[in-house]
Amino acid sequence: MKPLSRREFVAGAALAALAAAPHRLHAAPAATPWRNWSGNLVAHPAGRLAPRDEDELVTMLRRTSGPLRPVGAGHSFSPLVPTDGHLVVLSEFTGLVRTDPQAMTAELMAGTRLSDAGRLLHAAGQAMFNLPDIDRQTLAGAIATSTHGTGVNLKSLSGYVTALRLVTPAGQVLDLSAERDPDTFHAACVSLGALGIVTRITLRNRPPFRLQTRFSVAKTEEIIDCLEACAADYRHFDLMPFLHGDYALVTAQRETDDPAVPTTAADDDAGFIELVKLIDRTPVAERRALINSAVSGMAPGESVDWSFDALTNFRFDRFNEMEYSVPADAGPACLREILQAVASDGIEVAIPLEYRTVAADEAWLSMYHGGPRVAISVHRLAQHDFRPLFTRVEPIFWKYEGRPHWGKVHSLGYDRLSALYPRLGDFVALQESLDPRGRMLNDHLRRMLGK
Ligand SMILES: Cc1cc2nc3c(=O)[nH]c(=O)nc-3n(C[C@H](O)[C@H](O)[C@H](O)COP(=O)(O)OP(=O)(O)OC[C@H]3O[C@@H](n4cnc5c(N)ncnc54)[C@H](O)[C@@H]3O)c2cc1C
Repeated sequence: MKPLSRREFVAGAALAALAAAPHRLHAAPAATPWRNWSGNLVAHPAGRLAPRDEDELVTMLRRTSGPLRPVGAGHSFSPLVPTDGHLVVLSEFTGLVRTDPQAMTAELMAGTRLSDAGRLLHAAGQAMFNLPDIDRQTLAGAIATSTHGTGVNLKSLSGYVTALRLVTPAGQVLDLSAERDPDTFHAACVSLGALGIVTRITLRNRPPFRLQTRFSVAKTEEIIDCLEACAADYRHFDLMPFLHGDYALVTAQRETDDPAVPTTAADDDAGFIELVKLIDRTPVAERRALINSAVSGMAPGESVDWSFDALTNFRFDRFNEMEYSVPADAGPACLREILQAVASDGIEVAIPLEYRTVAADEAWLSMYHGGPRVAISVHRLAQHDFRPLFTRVEPIFWKYEGRPHWGKVHSLGYDRLSALYPRLGDFVALQESLDPRGRMLNDHLRRMLGK
């Protein structure tokens, strides 16, 4: 049982009415508000379009004229989704379409949750190369923001897309790949939902594999000194340094042929969450002593599981998050500076940082376009104001040429983004050609795309 159930955003009655009578959109009952997972975003869309298939989607796009925003599982912290027009919900677009065992590729419907994708692919003799911390996201939502996991040799999910189908705002169906229309393909692999609706995604996969996971505790200063070598030593390496404390949690994973051993990850997660809550209740000045004694005493753990279970066991209370990816060689210095700034300013924060490595890919707006990077995340429990922490940390990311994660909180507009993402201007030109009336834009996208 995953405690990370998403906020309900689909009102059954309104959705069923729209699906049954897709061409009478404006007669739909008043829509329920939409909220994202953390609850920091609320929108009042005019309605929700839930096409049953691609033909119905095309008809809906052709027969409507107002603003549209595709929505996945609502797990983004940045306002990519909110609209007062219609949300496009692909809850009917789920499942495995076909696999190619020779090429080791699989085509999935874009609304498939990562959790379902893992099991469907496993049954078909395939596995995704990597996954993010959780698996509640939809495939389309995840690639739209270049969602990633960790591993020096592993790309973001967008880096494993070999083909996709995009339905443009005008209702044109485009089958894209690196061979067929490479420019549109590389733009659509991380599209922010600004180019149209992605309905199918083909992924390059590999045979199923198991991972041995080792959880341990390290002195933050010591592990930062060997960060590059430690990360390179494992298939996946994830560091969570406590702010206001001297220790970090380390998760290191290697491929193994050992049989899967049932894990106690849920219990471990529960203990971790209780610790974070205790830190949160403790005055900042007293936290170092608390963290150092609690964390240094944590026993190391080990488990073996299939990749899709081993990679996505991070469960948490609601929080908000900022994440930037800095060039790989700048990671340790950037991490140190954040730890020092938060400690010296006594800024409230209970959840540890997260430090992950990601390999380069070719998608125009990928955070990893052009070279490997290190993703550093800062979290604040959702019941607290995240601004003091995020406004203190964000300029540190800028100093190291960090690129913001599109799905997480950041404050950048077109001018700064275009200096960080060399293909942003090309992306804007393509967006204008596919969506000349700007139906797919909301205020947040207009700001980021310079409109
Ligand atoms: C608890 C938690 C853990 C997370 N862990 C990680 C992590 O480990 N690594 C990481 O990189 N990120 C992580 N994220 C961020 C998350 O993966 C991204 O924000 C992701 O984009 C959310 O996917 P979603 O399905 O919820 O999409 P949404 O948040 O609903 O939408 C995201 C974007 O996708 C677009 N979109 C959705 N469907 C379509 C479609 N069919 N066609 C075109 N565009 C579409 C939307 O318009 C929007 O622009 C985490 C978020 C949470 C809340």
